[in-house]
Amino acid sequence: MADSQTPGVLEVITGPMFSGKSEELIRRLKRARIARQRVLCFKPDIDLRYSQTSIASHSSQTHEATPVASLEDLRAALYPQLDQVDVIGVDEVQFFSAAILPLALQLIALGKRVIMAGLDTTFAGEPFGPVPNLMAVADTVTKLSAVCMVCGAAAIHTQRLSHSRELVVVGAAGIYEARCRAHFHPFVDESTSEQLKLPAL
Ligand code: ADP
Ligand code: MG
Repeated sequence: MADSQTPGVLEVITGPMFSGKSEELIRRLKRARIARQRVLCFKPDIDLRYSQTSIASHSSQTHEATPVASLEDLRAALYPQLDQVDVIGVDEVQFFSAAILPLALQLIALGKRVIMAGLDTTFAGEPFGPVPNLMAVADTVTKLSAVCMVCGAAAIHTQRLSHSRELVVVGAAGIYEARCRAHFHPFVDESTSEQLKLPAL
């Protein structure tokens, strides 16, 4: 159980798509539950790939999660029950605004274990939203790699396959692919810049 006298921790799980971030987050949350800790998990509501009320990995592991439309929503859902929570998980954390950093620090000061998973880079290969700053202040950073779909080497990048102008925010196989440095080809066209201007939650 979290003791408000003892600082909590921030654990960041990062890497490209298909690197197992959600899988690792789900694994840690399940272990915390086995240890009889009280767990809450959140995800941005733009990530409704598999379910409204859970997070899911590409390997079909799931964990209950509350979808939120913004950081304010997350705060509003979490704070009334904060006394009953030991561990707070957030998936797809790259979609939140920079204000997630002070929120994370506040939760740590209150003795919470905070586990945040998200992409470190965009499909243009650039640092993604608040993730670099969260990595900087984290107690631990787990940087996972996927498998490059061209050569099988360790992949640190997310390659967008579609050149369509459609604003694809969240997708999986067929739209994005894991690639190593040698096989990653970022492109910047109108649809890319459109996505990069996506407002943070
Ligand atoms: P993330 O949350 O980082 O996108 P997930 O946890 O959802 O990743 O999925 C990881 C799983 O995706 C792996 O365990 C594996 O079953 C599957 N997978 C599909 N493509 C790849 C790939 N190119 N490299 C590694 N794992 C892959
Ligand atoms: Mg994921």
